[in-house]
Amino acid sequence: MPIKKLLIANRGEIALRIHRACHEMGIETVAVHSTADADAMHVRLADETVCIGPPPATESYLNIPNIISAAEVVHADAIHPGYGFLSENAQFAEIVELHNIIWIGPKPEHIRTMGDKIEAKRTAARLGLPLVPGSDGPLDSIADARKVAKKVGYPVLIKAASGGGGRGMKVVTSEAQLESLMSQAASEARSAFGDDTIYLEKYLADPRHIEFQVFGDGDGNAVHIGERDCSIQRRHQKVLEEAPSPAISAEQRERMGGIVAKAMAEMGYRGAGTIEFLYEDGEFYFIEMNTRLQVEHPVTEMISGIDLVREQIRVASGQGMSCRQEEIRLHGHAIECRINAEDPQTFAPSPGTVKNYVAPGGMHVRVDSGLYTGYRVPPYYDSMIAKLIVYGSTRERCIMRLRRALEEFLVEGMKTTIPLHQQIVQDDDFMRGDYTIKWLEKWLEQQQAG
Ligand code: ADP
Repeated sequence: MPIKKLLIANRGEIALRIHRACHEMGIETVAVHSTADADAMHVRLADETVCIGPPPATESYLNIPNIISAAEVVHADAIHPGYGFLSENAQFAEIVELHNIIWIGPKPEHIRTMGDKIEAKRTAARLGLPLVPGSDGPLDSIADARKVAKKVGYPVLIKAASGGGGRGMKVVTSEAQLESLMSQAASEARSAFGDDTIYLEKYLADPRHIEFQVFGDGDGNAVHIGERDCSIQRRHQKVLEEAPSPAISAEQRERMGGIVAKAMAEMGYRGAGTIEFLYEDGEFYFIEMNTRLQVEHPVTEMISGIDLVREQIRVASGQGMSCRQEEIRLHGHAIECRINAEDPQTFAPSPGTVKNYVAPGGMHVRVDSGLYTGYRVPPYYDSMIAKLIVYGSTRERCIMRLRRALEEFLVEGMKTTIPLHQQIVQDDDFMRGDYTIKWLEKWLEQQQAG
């Protein structure tokens, strides 16, 4: 069924991103927003707008009854959830479908399975993906945890089954710490995610984070669109991402890509997804799957020429994917910098009013951001205010262009992490592509010490 009007259940740059894909497809958009976002760019550009509640996300962007009512009032025939908020809420997906509204996302049962990290690991194992060694299921006793930890060897990592956003993980270096860290992890998981189920896996010493973009049509056809290297992280959160990874070869890409695409085909997966791995000493270890669009999806778009939101809309409305695996060609290199309204040294949030805004431009430079001069960044939500994505025919040209684009980027009125990115892209290790998930934190410590 062709979609005429699509409701965007999100805010910020991703709401704008979805709006753009819709208008390029001749689809009208409906922006739902909290009272804090009445002046947001995606609200200004949307064809229709509905205020769905006060600033706290629980009362607006997470308010299912209000979002569904908005969709009914405006007669939207589809809902795109973006990332975060309700994007990985299987119940929301079911409610949307029950109201005969097209859900732009995976089948609810797949969202549910992959949203539970223990179930996700079981499913991945069944589908032939290599796992991080660890517990087969939830940890139900300290004796159980001791046994698994001994088997895989310390250090181990305790993780929450419902975890996300890099939160609630505990590194345990010896058996003496196990019991107290286990109970801490469980109680933190309960308060953060409302679920105290925890599991344990081997803590890899110094891996890279490499993830594959997958896409399925829901009828047993699936492709991979290469990998992204997201190892530049702080507190387990991604800061800068690039595609392809400087660490893997074309053969490794083809082999792992083939494995993940086959797994998705076997599942009957529908829509966009990301299979995340840690990569160490030439081996991949599955950690989780995200059943949604990722923040860093533009780097894949830049090197493949595929508009992932357009593909999501096509598949959800029954038009199928626009390309087969053998038609997907990856060219050149792309890097994304996540720009946050934060102090670049202390990372303290710095919301405020944009006094002057000039985005970089020129060939192969993309800025996904809802900022404009005079816009007040509300203090209630995520601090990411812009994504700068740059393409180059080689990694070196991409980095030179990125340096140039960062020089041009002007956001006055608040502190941003632009200066941090400027330093990262000048660094010799970064230039060589020689970094792991620990690199940025070590580098920040050195900066502070020196
Ligand atoms: P979340 O869903 O909270 O983002 P993930 O499982 O995706 O959690 O892990 C986030 C990050 O935490 C990874 O990118 C990596 O930096 C680190 N991490 C996760 N599991 C391990 C592990 N077994 N060993 C070392 N680091 C890990």
